[in-house]
Amino acid sequence: MMEDKGEKNGVAAMAACYQKFDPAAYLQYNYTPPRADFTRKDSIVPWKLACLHRALTEGDVSGELLVDIGSGPTLYQVMSGCEVFKKLILTDFLEVNRQELRRWLQDEGKCSLDWTPYLEHVCKLEGRRSSAWPEKAAKLRQVVADILPIDVHCSQPLAPDALPSAGADCLVSCFCLESVSPDMPAFTRALGNIQKLLRPGGHLLLIGALGESYYFGGPGVRIPVVPLDEAQVCSSLKESGYTLIRLEVYTLSQDMRVGVDDVTGVFFAKAKRD
Ligand code: SAM
Repeated sequence: MMEDKGEKNGVAAMAACYQKFDPAAYLQYNYTPPRADFTRKDSIVPWKLACLHRALTEGDVSGELLVDIGSGPTLYQVMSGCEVFKKLILTDFLEVNRQELRRWLQDEGKCSLDWTPYLEHVCKLEGRRSSAWPEKAAKLRQVVADILPIDVHCSQPLAPDALPSAGADCLVSCFCLESVSPDMPAFTRALGNIQKLLRPGGHLLLIGALGESYYFGGPGVRIPVVPLDEAQVCSSLKESGYTLIRLEVYTLSQDMRVGVDDVTGVFFAKAKRD
């Protein structure tokens, strides 16, 4: 439920922007070199994968169910989590993105991106040989239980019986809330809405853009983003019922600024539901 008309209009305008989202172009812009260059430690994707790996192997995150909020057409964000949780649920607002995920999970049809280098890299983070990637792919396919529609602007973002009544043990969400919200209050409200999907004491692993005002979701598909700074991320988390455990920040070098957005940094927050 949304509160007033202005708010509803802002959210509806964001939903309209997403109607032309192009999963293949989005993957090409953000998930190929230089942003996904596994030979470089300073590339964005290896940085994100290292944050997720570390957060999930420190010993404090555990349970049965991990839910990824606003998965988009990507799988990198659950490649560490699939080793820790027995069950994983992916979610997105758009059917085109859910379809892209289904193609990879069902191992049929051509996918828009080859996830093999990602699987190889995460195997190495886990101390395994990169050649173990087929086992990781099989594990990921085995633990993903569902791919569901979601709207983070609804007070109940998923269908009523989608999750067990206790909620998920862990939420992951990457580049979703700031890029689907019309303004800062909507971002904070969305954080509060997804908090209800998490059990008390459960963990939130949140990755997002800093200082970004737009990104391209396809050729000519300019999507507005709420430009966040670190202090706003921390205060929104607090206001929405989370205790921050750690915030890490990555600053984009000039060669990572490839003209598909105006992002200046990336944050990784590990937090716990109060
Ligand atoms: N998580 C992916 C990543 O890390 O690259 C995708 C992020 S993409 C910038 C934002 C995603 O939010 C898109 O997949 C889009 O379909 C989804 N989205 C749009 N509106 C949404 C809403 N109201 N609720 C949840 N997700 C939404």
